[in-house]
Amino acid sequence: MLSRRVRQIDPSETLRIAAMARQLKEQGVDVIDLSVGEPDFPTPSNIKEAGKKAIDRNITRYTPNPGLPELRAAVAEKLRRDNNVSYEPDEIIISPGAKNCLFIAWMALLDEGHEVIIPSPYWVTYPQQVLLAGGKPVVIDTMEEDGFKLRPRALESVINEKTKAIIINNPCNPTGTAYTRDELASLCTIAADRGLYIVADEIYEKLVYDEFDFTSIGALGEHIKQRAIIINGVSKSYSMTGWRLGFAAAPREIIDAMNKIQSHNTSNACSISQVAALEALRGPQDDVTRMVREFQQRRDYMLSRLKEIPRISCVEPTGAFYVFPNFSAYYDTEYDGMHVRNSVELAHYLLTHANVAVVPGSAFGRDKYIRLSYAASMEEIRKAMDRIADAVARLKPST
Ligand code: PLP
Repeated sequence: MLSRRVRQIDPSETLRIAAMARQLKEQGVDVIDLSVGEPDFPTPSNIKEAGKKAIDRNITRYTPNPGLPELRAAVAEKLRRDNNVSYEPDEIIISPGAKNCLFIAWMALLDEGHEVIIPSPYWVTYPQQVLLAGGKPVVIDTMEEDGFKLRPRALESVINEKTKAIIINNPCNPTGTAYTRDELASLCTIAADRGLYIVADEIYEKLVYDEFDFTSIGALGEHIKQRAIIINGVSKSYSMTGWRLGFAAAPREIIDAMNKIQSHNTSNACSISQVAALEALRGPQDDVTRMVREFQQRRDYMLSRLKEIPRISCVEPTGAFYVFPNFSAYYDTEYDGMHVRNSVELAHYLLTHANVAVVPGSAFGRDKYIRLSYAASMEEIRKAMDRIADAVARLKPST
């Protein structure tokens, strides 16, 4: 019998849809994949060159467990330059991905039964990681009419003596919602006043549109910074998902604890990726600007196409590369003997009858919605939106 720990974890819905899409592709079906969670651009060439040079310079051994000193310093510079937040290099840890930073943070913070507040819709991994670390996820639904933003009063209502932390994903996967400085300050002040840790997943920080002014929670004053664990990385901003390189900034005591856990888990992040990340953070940023411009055009186009589909609603995302439309008006329908009663069945229907892969909202805790990624070419998005519009138009109320 496997452990209780692993038995309480759900397999990833995203991976299940991706596997089905792959299977159809292998059968020669022209599937358009809007389920992806990574930029479709190659890693910028200056970063790739830095990685190649690292190999030639034999930077291929273990590095210090919390990361190369130059990279920790470069992350501190980045936080100061981009976010106006001041951390010393020893308040920073480099890890194999932001996902691993989050995992070691939960392992460092949580004892059995500690509660973690998770606003929904949430990134699939948060509740599962909290469970793995022995904590209890406490999910609060945010409302579509509030732009999926957590209301301070809703936060206050769920805090109790067992609450240890809250996770704030800004900008959010799957909604693209981004908090203004004032909104963030209201939430973080409540959390810090009540003695909670605030784990801020800022991985989509650079992918914001309409000149949105991103605020890191570290910039909200010393009181909040003392309770803040900032999670970030190069995966999304620099199109480096495969390099597995994330970082976290937090008070020294927490970083030391995360470092201890990392030393018995993965050890250091890949040495080559660390050198490449150094170039990403310190080198030219033009490719990021180009990528953001392209994402914004795709987002605008996708939103305009969604507006043409009757009976759906969609909050306009400010960041990341996803839209999260409400398709529930098309539930309790059928076509060709296939029933659509929920987001999983809708995703299945769209995959088999429109050949478009999307992620069901239930994976993010919200069944009325589906997630469409615009990390695909404009041509693919155009074709996918034509197919989705046609496919939902064919659905008729179930008899
Ligand atoms: N946080 C969020 C909200 C994400 O969507 C993802 C990736 O999908 C990650 C973290 C993981 O980032 P990394 O590739 O650095 O582990």
